[in-house]
Amino acid sequence: MTGALVLRTSDPEQTRQLAAAVAGLVEPGDVIALSGELGAGKTCFVQGAARGLGVEVAVTSPTFVLVRSYRGRLPVVHVDVYRLQRLQDVLDLGDEVFAPDVVTFVEWGDAITALLPQDRLDVEIVHADETGDDAPSRCVRLTPYGSWSARSEALRGALGPWLGGPPC
Ligand code: ADP
Ligand code: MG
Repeated sequence: MTGALVLRTSDPEQTRQLAAAVAGLVEPGDVIALSGELGAGKTCFVQGAARGLGVEVAVTSPTFVLVRSYRGRLPVVHVDVYRLQRLQDVLDLGDEVFAPDVVTFVEWGDAITALLPQDRLDVEIVHADETGDDAPSRCVRLTPYGSWSARSEALRGALGPWLGGPPC
């Protein structure tokens, strides 16, 4: 792991734009694991990343179906393990997730760390203010591992607009 990047977004669209900037660095086989409480903005981040990857249809939370797939510059797979009963249910998805030719986003990835590849980008989103759950600012912590560490300078470059913004 190289250093984590922590950025503040002030509304959902900024979170989507930040995610789209991250998506510009995505390569086949990448896994991006999202954590943060309900309503933190995990799905919002995936929506922005999918948009950045050229997905043209609306991305909605796969909470009840576990996984949805989209066609973009790369195939995009969106997993949400919030309602997962057994780890085996993820394994049963087989080649659909964590495949070498797709990019896989996992909401609540921290709940299934054992199943995630070590080479990944962790994205943790938290409310930035103590002013209540409706306040729009979020702190987004990006922690690169493996091949993402090798891309961390590029990541820093892509996130320039946010790195110069208000701190978290
Ligand atoms: P999660 O998937 O983590 O449960 P969602 O992305 O579904 O969260 O929902 C996040 C909610 O918070 C949305 O209603 C969104 O409009 C709102 N929101 C407010 N500010 C932000 C922000 N800065 N970034 C992301 N979402 C935000
Ligand atoms: Mg969600």
